Amino acid sequence: MNIENNKVVVMHYAVMDSEENLIDSSYDHKPLAFIHGNGFLIPGLESELNGKKVGDKFVADVAAADGYGERHDGFVQTVPKEMFQGIEDLDVGMQLRAQTDEGEQTVIVIGVDEDEITVDGNHPLAGIDLKFEVEILEVRDATEEEIQHGHVHGEGGCGHNH
Ligand code: ZN
Repeated sequence: MNIENNKVVVMHYAVMDSEENLIDSSYDHKPLAFIHGNGFLIPGLESELNGKKVGDKFVADVAAADGYGERHDGFVQTVPKEMFQGIEDLDVGMQLRAQTDEGEQTVIVIGVDEDEITVDGNHPLAGIDLKFEVEILEVRDATEEEIQHGHVHGEGGCGHNH
């Protein structure tokens, strides 16, 4: 069975930057399970999976534009500290939820001074060309219920609250 939309795919992956520094790997925990074609994966990786089957091992190069997008300098903003009142120990590297023109968004604190903080709303992997090593472990039809819920069910059904 080949991978196409509405197939459940279970796979292991390792992802590296263009200098082969490891960013993340499913081999350290459990394989990734998802419904193919519903936008769970970044577009550049999803398209590489089309037509693949169980046992396939391959390398996929995904340019930043087909991955987490390019970096936008405009997503870096310096704002008054009082916008984040009630948050203790504001420090570089902290992730916050912030209200922006585009809705609620995760931002990372990249600078803190006396009364201002600088936050970066870019995805941490934005602007980075990625290299994936992928191993396909399982391909099956998604059930009606899984397609409705938009996620994969393990043994014993949903296990999520809806
Ligand atoms: Zn469910």
